[in-house]
Amino acid sequence: MKNNTLLVTGGAGFIGANFVLYWLEQHKSDRVIVLDALTYAGNRANLEAVEGNPNFRFVHGDICDTALVESLLRDEGVNTLVHFAAESHVDRSITGPDAFIETNIIGTYSLLKASKKVWIDEPKAAGQVPVEHRFHHVSTDEVYGTLEKDEAPFKETNQYQPNSPYSASKAASDHLVRAYHHTYGLEVTTSNCSNNYGPFHFPEKLIPLVVTNILHDKPLPIYGDGQQIRDWLYVEDHARGIELVLNQGQVGENYNIGGHNEWANIDIVKLICMQMNQAFKSNPKLIEKFPLATNAAKGSSEELIVYVTDRAGHDRRYAIDATKTQNELGYEPVESFETGFSKTLQWYLDNAPWWQAIIDGTYRK
Ligand code: NAD
Repeated sequence: MKNNTLLVTGGAGFIGANFVLYWLEQHKSDRVIVLDALTYAGNRANLEAVEGNPNFRFVHGDICDTALVESLLRDEGVNTLVHFAAESHVDRSITGPDAFIETNIIGTYSLLKASKKVWIDEPKAAGQVPVEHRFHHVSTDEVYGTLEKDEAPFKETNQYQPNSPYSASKAASDHLVRAYHHTYGLEVTTSNCSNNYGPFHFPEKLIPLVVTNILHDKPLPIYGDGQQIRDWLYVEDHARGIELVLNQGQVGENYNIGGHNEWANIDIVKLICMQMNQAFKSNPKLIEKFPLATNAAKGSSEELIVYVTDRAGHDRRYAIDATKTQNELGYEPVESFETGFSKTLQWYLDNAPWWQAIIDGTYRK
């Protein structure tokens, strides 16, 4: 599509913001409009690098506000919607599922309804052809359920077996997206991706939580035996995967995006401890910047690890088979885990004001 105008929902969150920064860098003549409700997980600071770019606009609003979505699609001439907005933290879905049902299911339905109306129904009623369009839905590998250690990774053809309120709400949204294509001809694609890591990751999630706790010399909580396995992908490689799906993906198809990079949670935590110890060893001045990080400075961050009661219904293993995306779209992650992981830890060391503002709550202002 030439002269793209993208509506990116949830663009102030972790992956959405990384996607917007990537997209505006790669597609300099495209316009990007972010629609974000700025929940606790949304942060305008994530988009600081593109504020002032004439091709970027931020709209503070809720995806459940169908009239607002319709007017943005119509008035801004949007032809591509990339849908990241969601409640995304599994723990929160266990203690308070309501917001997950509201945003992930009703919110996705609202976007589908608005897209169908503006891109298909209104032109048809005016005797015109539908607007050339794409609705891309960003989803997760968690919809496929859990795997045993020796089971084959998830393929796009695996049955959906979501186990948490989060993954169930994402699965429901995936089904709605599929139905809008089959029933109404909305031109949709969906990508199901594994765990992302990288800059701007909210410090309630495993990697930034462990880093910031080490810097505060706080305990590093590990659920159960810590042997839960996840596949980890550098966030910019997720953005690249979505770009490929948008440019070359077949309408109506699902594409798995993964990193061929499975780690047990406890091993990821130990790796962070080791790298933080090394960072303090090679730069003794770090302790002046992070005076509480006494275990890191002594090279003993692992001593902060504590095992806590496992999460209810905790899935044991997720693993992605991205062969279809690789064969059909030529997808391969670009970033090695080694460099992506080091870059990410360095980013948290270099950007303390970003996460400190989250921890002390001032980012909400
Ligand atoms: P996030 O929690 O960091 O960000 C979500 C964003 O959505 C926030 O900016 C928030 O303000 C916004 N939002 C929430 N409710 C909204 C509403 N009702 N209206 C408008 N905006 C709203 O999430 P993330 O980790 O960046 O995940 C983005 C998407 O990618 C989600 O759909 C998630 O399911 C999916 N995903 C995430 C991962 C991962 O590892 N984080 C992996 C695979 C897929």
